Amino acid sequence: MMKANKYTFGLLISIGINIILLSYIIILYHSGSNQFIERQCSLSWSEKAAAEAEAVAAISCSGHGRAYLDGPVNYEQSEGQVRPVCECYDCYGGLDCSILSPECPADADSGDPIFLEPFWMEHATESAVMISGWHRMSYRYVDYTTMSSELEKYIRKMHAIVGNAITEGRYLVFGIGSSQLLNAAVYALSSDNSSSPSNVLATIPFYPMYNAQTVFFHSENFQFQGDSNTWILNNNNNNIPTNNKNVVEFVTSPNNPDGELKTSVVLGAKTIYDHAYFWPHFTPIPSPSDRDLMIFTLSKLTGHAGTRFGWAVIKDKDVYDKMLNYISVADMSISKDTQLRVLQLLKVAVKDHGKPLFEFAYDKMRDRWARLTSVFSKSTRFSLQHRHPLHCSFFNQTRLPSPAYAWVKCEREEDQDCGKVLETDGKIKGRSGSIFSAGDRCVRLSLIKSQDDFELLLKRLTQLVALENNINGGAVQIM
Ligand code: PMP
Repeated sequence: MMKANKYTFGLLISIGINIILLSYIIILYHSGSNQFIERQCSLSWSEKAAAEAEAVAAISCSGHGRAYLDGPVNYEQSEGQVRPVCECYDCYGGLDCSILSPECPADADSGDPIFLEPFWMEHATESAVMISGWHRMSYRYVDYTTMSSELEKYIRKMHAIVGNAITEGRYLVFGIGSSQLLNAAVYALSSDNSSSPSNVLATIPFYPMYNAQTVFFHSENFQFQGDSNTWILNNNNNNIPTNNKNVVEFVTSPNNPDGELKTSVVLGAKTIYDHAYFWPHFTPIPSPSDRDLMIFTLSKLTGHAGTRFGWAVIKDKDVYDKMLNYISVADMSISKDTQLRVLQLLKVAVKDHGKPLFEFAYDKMRDRWARLTSVFSKSTRFSLQHRHPLHCSFFNQTRLPSPAYAWVKCEREEDQDCGKVLETDGKIKGRSGSIFSAGDRCVRLSLIKSQDDFELLLKRLTQLVALENNINGGAVQIM
């Protein structure tokens, strides 16, 4: 009995020691990365670069511009030094960007996603990247690949967190922006037989790059045929799947310019789902997209359009091989510096299940849409696209989309060219409907530019609508 107790006691002591040791190992493992950083706390070669980066970021430019290390510089004779100068936002000028030009038009043309800049300034510490002079000089990674497997892991994690795309068992291909992947996808899905080239289609209104690239990268294997619905009618083939095998259809969901969640219209077509805007700040996410070929871009996820990074999620191995080959022949793969930066940004983006980033971005877009709809509600001359509420699985609520662009229609018979009306009567620059093959009664206004740009746009729209309602007896001063 005594002996048994002794054994039990010994066993308990041994289990206890093992538990303590195991906990210690786990704590060591988890704090490993922090200790690694702490051990390096005295900086050597990175100190000067860090100081330079912080000094240029501290140049205020009155909040209406930025200075960059790779921007223009002034030579300060007194100090014998070069100093980066402020690059002013639209409508602002002067050495410190403090002078507003009163007659300047509101520019709502481009889709530059600067609305996310304040988020990254708030997360300056986590998102900064330091690149050594010898960082990844090779064409390849150590495993002979050209795409960072760590970055791939974070892209898949991002999709899993947001629930906007299935990536398990799918292949990824990186591109220089999603722009490069659009044509890589057309190439990969097109016919191998030059006597029957594939017909490349998209539904009006569509993003003009599909047409521009397909024509520019002229090939015997594909040709751009324009609007999907017109093609179905003209080919009189009753839209039977077996008749449409030789079709490559671009499906932009949400659509640029009108924000609609689209699906393919040509039955049996090979599809390229352009999901550039399929993120919770622009649209409710009803369920994960499970398409054969899906294309995403960092530009509209984190706002880093200048970084030029996109990725394709691909089901089929043969299509994957072809797209990989396209990227390899075109560019021998994507910059390793870019991949490092994207990795750092995604590490911030996935923090706390993506809530800080998407809440910031969605709040901003929702606020802009609320203010915009309030202005348009007072107009009968101009109307906005209809937005349909949907359940968003990410935010777990039913809500309206908050698209990147307003798709504005001129309702008066005489206002045939809506872009021109906005420009001449309202000093507002938009992108005409004909650019999206839709006719000029509609015009696209970008809502994702800087706060300055948005404020000016709203001011000009308010004045334009006031003019229509003859407030102030029509004597409205622009600006
Ligand atoms: N697809 C759509 C629908 C777009 O609007 C854009 C950019 N405006 C792109 C693709 C290309 O984006 P990027 O090349 O910056 O990834």
